[in-house]
Amino acid sequence: MQIDAQLQRKLIGEVARCVIDHAEELTALDQAVGDGDHGINMKRGFEAVLGDLDKTSALPMPEALKAVGMALVMKVGGASGPLYGTLFIALGKAFPESPTRAALAEAFSAAVEAVKTRGKSDVRMKTMLDVLVPVLETLRRSGGDVYTELRATAQAAAAATVPMQAVRGRASFLGARSVGHMDPGARSSWLMVETVADVLEGKQPMTSTDKNQVISR
Ligand code: ADP
Ligand code: MG
Repeated sequence: MQIDAQLQRKLIGEVARCVIDHAEELTALDQAVGDGDHGINMKRGFEAVLGDLDKTSALPMPEALKAVGMALVMKVGGASGPLYGTLFIALGKAFPESPTRAALAEAFSAAVEAVKTRGKSDVRMKTMLDVLVPVLETLRRSGGDVYTELRATAQAAAAATVPMQAVRGRASFLGARSVGHMDPGARSSWLMVETVADVLEGKQPMTSTDKNQVISR
């Protein structure tokens, strides 16, 4: 795969716009199981990313990813800021010189491992990792239509957080009452994966008005 400066700008810009467009939905999800700030946190972070877009799109991809991660650490706050920041920074550090699917999967694996270490977390704890880990597995294994498979995996994985009881983050304070709601971080990860797949496939990323809106309860 060739990622030129124009595609890099589109990837970063569309991911940022998609998260910003879904801020209200992310906030509604976080109102059900947390403190209702996930949307506003992510919006603040990705607005900073959009503000830096001229600068980051001129950098080599590894440096651009690290810069995005730093902006998220500084601006998002909450639990998700350091975790998404770690994801992007670690992805930047591991980003391969020739981005084949296998090489990208290994870099993404390093990034997911960094999130696990930072969050002292793993799958089945009702967090963003319940989307990121299955997406990594699909990226590793997919032999067919990788973009369709990535979108389907992310969607199913986010939906699978609904019946889970949270073990990490604020939602864990609710105990059994965290069951029955999608994890907000799983939804934001799904949105990012879907947007990356859309852009890499050359599709026009969908906007908040035509994307499936998740009902929080
Ligand atoms: P806060 O919980 O501090 O208000 P946010 O609302 O922005 O932060 O983010 C909450 C999301 O962060 C959760 O939905 C979950 O996906 C993710 N999260 C929280 N703690 C962890 C953790 N230890 N490991 C992985 N993800 C986590
Ligand atoms: Mg919150």
